Amino acid sequence: MYTYYISVGSNIGNRRQFIERAYAALSIHHEVHSIASSSIIETEPWGYTDQNGFLNAVWYVNCTLEPHELLDVLQSLECVAQRKREIHWGPRTLDLDIIYAVVDSGICVYINDERLVIPHPYFWDRLFVLEPLMELDKEFTYNGESICDRIQTLKT
Ligand code: ATP
Ligand code: MG
Ligand code: MG
Repeated sequence: MYTYYISVGSNIGNRRQFIERAYAALSIHHEVHSIASSSIIETEPWGYTDQNGFLNAVWYVNCTLEPHELLDVLQSLECVAQRKREIHWGPRTLDLDIIYAVVDSGICVYINDERLVIPHPYFWDRLFVLEPLMELDKEFTYNGESICDRIQTLKT
């Protein structure tokens, strides 16, 4: 069994509906045992700033899907939302990124291949990921740093 943290974002169209429909679809996947969502928050664009504001959330997913199988499922949900890739970090109906994963023993999963990098290379730099993540898991740490300290550092 794996536990995955998934960062969710949308800044085009009916943003909340894109997020809620994808959550509902993932929650009924036969290999998904449990799923929980943080609050959905409004955030400013990151990276490419000349675009609409985002809604962001983090999902916590317990499932038996292997990492690349989960990526396939997430990309199919992005397709259902008619996600197009035109500008790097640009506007999107739905973005579903695996930011962090542990196997049932609690060991962090590290993957770095042409399709998938886990932990996600930027997750620890993004307040729009860390604030909802802290709501789900106040005890989260990464490389010995607590999420609470990291958020403070990013805000100063
Ligand atoms: P960022 O990953 O910096 O948030 P993005 O989400 O806008 O950027 P996408 O266009 O959604 O980037 O994805 C580009 C590619 O990233 C995908 O085709 C996917 O194979 C790859 N990818 C690598 N690591 C991950 C990951 N951890 N989660 C989701 N996609 C990943
Ligand atoms: Mg992304
Ligand atoms: Mg993505």
